[in-house]
Amino acid sequence: MDFVVYVNSHDIHRISTNLKVDPESFIQLYQPEDEDSAVRVEDGLYDLALKDDKGTCNFLKREAGQFRCSIQPFKPGICRTYPFEVRRGRFVQIVKKVCPVDWRLPKNLEMQMSSMYNEHDKEWDFYLDLIEEWNEGKKDRSLSSFTNFANSRVEISLQNSA
Ligand code: SF4
Repeated sequence: MDFVVYVNSHDIHRISTNLKVDPESFIQLYQPEDEDSAVRVEDGLYDLALKDDKGTCNFLKREAGQFRCSIQPFKPGICRTYPFEVRRGRFVQIVKKVCPVDWRLPKNLEMQMSSMYNEHDKEWDFYLDLIEEWNEGKKDRSLSSFTNFANSRVEISLQNSA
């Protein structure tokens, strides 16, 4: 496996509502790097990420010899901020290549992207709080129950902020 595109509850909500599909159709469970930020589903603790096909994201399509993201307008935050991430408050370039899409980056990238990075951070904070609440409760532990729970919380949050 060359890469993992981790998703949070906002990513799951955006993709499932735009594609009108169940989250289980595009989510896959991964052994977590950090159990404190993992979701308790099925038989253990997992990170949620996009499904891949032989090391390539399922949403990557090739047309006329060009690779393109088929969910570009609502791709996960980790893809929107790629090839940078925020580490200890500073922009750093991700060393490992995640996606072969041709990324053309504008000048003054840090300034232009700062609001997107802030939004990305807020969504991951929301997700970590949501996981904590989910993991503490005694509920049906299926992945579909978790994604229903996550989607309903995101919808409430979006309504409240509208
Ligand atoms: S940007 Fe690449 S990795 Fe991300 S969803 Fe699109 S095809 Fe997949």
